[in-house]
Amino acid sequence: MHDLTLAEMCHGLARREFSSSELTRHLLARCAATNPVYNAFITLDDAGALTQAAAADARLAAGDAPLLCGVPIAHKDIFCTRGLRTSCGSRMLDNFVAPYDATVVERLAAAGVVSLGKTNMDEFAMGSSNETSYYGPVKNPWALDCVPGGSSGGSAAAVAARLVPGATATDTGGSIRQPAALCGVTGLKPTYGRVSRWGMIAFASSLDQAGPMARSAEDVALLLQAMAGFDERDSTCLDRPVPDYRAALDQPLDGLRIGVPAEYFGAGLNPGTEQAVREALSELERQGARLVDIRLPHSDLAVPAYYVIAPAEASANLSRFDGVRYGHRCDNPKDLRDLFMRSRAEGFGAEVQRRILIGTYCLSAGYYDAYYNKAQQVRALIRQDFLDAFAQVDLILGPTCPNPAFAFGAKGGDPVAMYLEDIYTIAANLAGLPALSMPCGLVDGKPVGVQIIGNYFDEARMLNAAHRFQQATDWHRRAPPEVAA
Ligand code: GLN
Repeated sequence: MHDLTLAEMCHGLARREFSSSELTRHLLARCAATNPVYNAFITLDDAGALTQAAAADARLAAGDAPLLCGVPIAHKDIFCTRGLRTSCGSRMLDNFVAPYDATVVERLAAAGVVSLGKTNMDEFAMGSSNETSYYGPVKNPWALDCVPGGSSGGSAAAVAARLVPGATATDTGGSIRQPAALCGVTGLKPTYGRVSRWGMIAFASSLDQAGPMARSAEDVALLLQAMAGFDERDSTCLDRPVPDYRAALDQPLDGLRIGVPAEYFGAGLNPGTEQAVREALSELERQGARLVDIRLPHSDLAVPAYYVIAPAEASANLSRFDGVRYGHRCDNPKDLRDLFMRSRAEGFGAEVQRRILIGTYCLSAGYYDAYYNKAQQVRALIRQDFLDAFAQVDLILGPTCPNPAFAFGAKGGDPVAMYLEDIYTIAANLAGLPALSMPCGLVDGKPVGVQIIGNYFDEARMLNAAHRFQQATDWHRRAPPEVAA
């Protein structure tokens, strides 16, 4: 049963081939058995899941089942869930139980999903390897000595290991696409404003966006359908109609113009990754797409601009964790200042503290213009590169990451080496554009992802191209050897 895709599970549930309770019990047992190995979950919610599954079965029996009725999924532990701990991968929130559900959680529940629990992640979503989680790293199901990517490594590993057919995730600089690529699953960061951020713990508010991960583009389309749409509680959420994503999947690709940016195929790209991505481009060409060479001249400035803007926003967002209102509080504070300082020093890990320090420095009166304002100007140039490119092409394709999954500890001593793992993903966040990663090959037995960047609100076209690629190939169907065995 666990090998079925999300769409196949929906189908099986609707035809009553199995019940949601059976499916939920089966997947919960897999989660419990494998969590000591993969560490994909911070919290498993057996009781809650079985209650939701029983409710879904009743709706299926009554014939009033919504789109995703009875399908088990998991939520990244950055989304607030009423009554169930939301840790954000941090000691700071180890004891935090939200009094409400995030909009994403609420919408998926309304669509009928069953939530099995909360997935592991880098602390406050800061990381590319899951090594910053207070709960220990997630292991990549394809290679247990390698990272799953981050920050949504738990969601990606859970989908890859067939613990759930789909999961929620968030992406500030690549945290959906990079772990999707490293774990061989499909993940989509929607246009900024397409999905509500309400109830999603903020890292860098002008970059953060929630999105789905699953095995296929079709499954991602189903999840996005339920997640997307206006929410008056998030003032950055756009009030635009949500298209029927699944209905658009089967369009032929004739005449589709695909931009291939020279800057995404330069030095630093693993040759095996490059070959797999070029083969994906050839497949799309065979299906009628036209490849167009393009330039995104300011690409090399994306990582430096991001590492000013994201820490600046993080330093402001994380100031709310002060040991007073919620979260970790130190023992026996001497006075208020001691309470703030020790609660934050104990509650936050090293990477989070590094970002707060950098961000506070960049925003200080003497350096604001030199760093923060300059980074915002660079951001405008990066956005303009994309606008110029989309005047000529419909989609942009390239690698998601420069390399397949790396070993634990490989980049631990050098934050900059880690930051460069996101060299191809960050620009889409700076520009607010939608971007997707899907599997397109294996290098040394480890998955490689191809990235599709679309124009604003063009998710349907991106999913269409991804789906057509997946109709002709089977990379998205491959399971990690241990899982398939
Ligand atoms: N790896 C990037 C960082 O560490 C992106 C993280 C994310 O998208 N949440 O900031």
